[in-house]
Amino acid sequence: MEILSKTWVEISKRNLIHNLEAFRSHIPSQVGMMAVVKSNAYGHGLVEVARIAALQKVTWFGVDNVDEALQLRRSGIKSAILILGYTPHHRLQDCVKQNISFVVYNRETVFSLRSLFARSPALQKKQARIHLKIETGTHRQGIHGLALQQLIKEIQKIPQIYIEGVSTHYANIEDTENHSYAERQLKEFHLALQILRAEGIDPPWKHTACSAAVILFPDTYFNLVRLGVAMYGLWPSENVRLLAQQKKRHLNLKPVLQWKTIIAQLKRVKKGSPIGYGLTERVSRDSILAVLPVGYWDGYDRGLSSCGTVLIRERLCKVLGRVFMNMCVVDVTDIPQQLRVEDAVTLLGTQKTVGVSAESIASKIGTINYEVVTRINPLLPRFVV
Ligand SMILES: *Cc1c(COP(=O)(O)O)cnc(C)c1O
Repeated sequence: MEILSKTWVEISKRNLIHNLEAFRSHIPSQVGMMAVVKSNAYGHGLVEVARIAALQKVTWFGVDNVDEALQLRRSGIKSAILILGYTPHHRLQDCVKQNISFVVYNRETVFSLRSLFARSPALQKKQARIHLKIETGTHRQGIHGLALQQLIKEIQKIPQIYIEGVSTHYANIEDTENHSYAERQLKEFHLALQILRAEGIDPPWKHTACSAAVILFPDTYFNLVRLGVAMYGLWPSENVRLLAQQKKRHLNLKPVLQWKTIIAQLKRVKKGSPIGYGLTERVSRDSILAVLPVGYWDGYDRGLSSCGTVLIRERLCKVLGRVFMNMCVVDVTDIPQQLRVEDAVTLLGTQKTVGVSAESIASKIGTINYEVVTRINPLLPRFVV
């Protein structure tokens, strides 16, 4: 491959399709699949991922916001799209015009829709497709039982509002082996469905399951599951991976993303030389350094200073000293082959049998694999390979 960029992300089309097919056979055929592609598809590239997923059996796309939804529409995605996050009220018209569904959990949004339809004759024949978001115990976005009844009354006054879905989200499903809280949330959700039914409402789409629930708990499926992190070949947590094994619900997930760069400079330094800002690390022997043109701006976390590892010629090379804004330095002394400028470096991914996983980076910087991939700067090019 010609090197046009100093650092880039590679997306494996084959692995993405593999994961989607694995889930397609893991869940019953009558259950729809939502590909959650919010936050630049967890760093993988929104449009790149959506174009591949659209050709698989994906019925919905889940995004965080209206701008992501419009980007999907502009790139030719015709499928149903649900905004999972917040929509500023003055952007609700974009959703209505572009047939983009969104979550609703308060009266303010309903009132904004009422005035939108009242003042825009052009939208009179359009629909606002909403998914009621139920508060079942996560105490994030959502509406409780009693308030739900009142909200429905307001909604029913506006003929252009179509209640297309109802959903909730679990608080404690990745981080524990005790799933009693998730079971309580599921019960709360069933109660909310009863409230809706009592008002004569039975939305066509009911959904609660994120990746961990999809992997472990068929009771949470209803007729749509929202698949995020696992679609990208990453386990929601080590806990979920172990439980899946125990419950014989194991899936063979294949990571989709690799992050690469090239060597910008090679140099020899004497034993005891300090490396980088603050002179925080000195080499313990005469050493060969490789300067890499990637830093924390790119998403290579500064917490990887003196502890990150990258792959060069199938060997792990340690980061020396602090990660800079746009560069870092690694120790290549132990590589037997003669290295050259512009040789390939894998920051995240595998070379033959050795790998640097999102999980290993996450544990070094005290976070989760989700954050490691999601924070790779969206301005870096994504290549589908
Ligand atoms: C992000 C998100 C998901 C996907 O979660 P994963 O754990 O990545 O599968 C599902 N539902 C909602 C509401 C989300 O915000």
